Amino acid sequence: MSVKALFDLTGRVALVTGASRGLGLQMAEALGEMGCKLAICARKAAELAEAQVRLEAQGFEVLAVPCDLSQAANVAPLVDAVLERFGTIDILVNNAGATWGAPTANYPDEAWRKVMTLNVDAPFYLSREVGRRVMIPAGRGKIINLASIAGLRGNPPGMQTIAYNTSKAALINFTRALAAEWGEFGINVNAICPGFFPSKMANALIEKFADSLMARTPLRRIGGDEDLKGAVVFLASDAARHITGQAIAIDGGSSII
Ligand code: NAP
Repeated sequence: MSVKALFDLTGRVALVTGASRGLGLQMAEALGEMGCKLAICARKAAELAEAQVRLEAQGFEVLAVPCDLSQAANVAPLVDAVLERFGTIDILVNNAGATWGAPTANYPDEAWRKVMTLNVDAPFYLSREVGRRVMIPAGRGKIINLASIAGLRGNPPGMQTIAYNTSKAALINFTRALAAEWGEFGINVNAICPGFFPSKMANALIEKFADSLMARTPLRRIGGDEDLKGAVVFLASDAARHITGQAIAIDGGSSII
């Protein structure tokens, strides 16, 4: 097979959660450009519809499903909708996520639960549903979990996101454990650990910590609009068929120092 064919995703169906903006939208664009049919979801229907228009303007086939993934009961209907439209799911990108900043000593219970529910429970429920109904019977599939460098370590002084750090570490080991269990079904499970990328979630932190973030990043840059595209396409493609259970940091090198 040629290298170009290894990376080709023509006709594959990708479900990307939280793809109405930010990193999810960036990755949906990349997968669409490489030939995927796209299913995207998020809570706010209007913003999701805008993302659909933007993706369709690039020539991609797009199903948009408004959906709150913090409710477990919404997971099966989301998968139903994608299967009804496209018949299968080849690639699942568990991207939707949330954070909450507060000192741990005063961290609200509801903040902890909100973050853990979306960042850990939802990828579990959705992976289980897609695995059970589609990928295990098909004997193939790619699951890509959006973790974070926050799941690899603690935070710089002043950044207080205990639930987020905990949830992303959980997601990284969820990735390893699921990869170990589902390897025999031909399913690759990997995680991407972004550093800081401008987005609704991260903008305030980036602004507050701009100087120190830059100083602690070997490449002296924060993430940009194209910086996740190569990794998600690679992990979704046959080029990565022998890679599973890995967590790849895309962070300008900030996690190595
Ligand atoms: P973002 O701009 O806030 O986007 C989050 C996306 O998730 C939106 O589409 C949002 O749409 C959706 N979402 C939020 N709650 C949801 C829910 N309950 N059900 C369904 N969808 C929901 O954040 P982002 O920076 O792109 O983050 C995307 C992922 O990358 C997250 O997992 C985040 O932890 C991870 N990450 C980001 C950075 C960074 O620097 N930006 C760094 C490391 C990791 P609605 O609000 O309409 O639901």
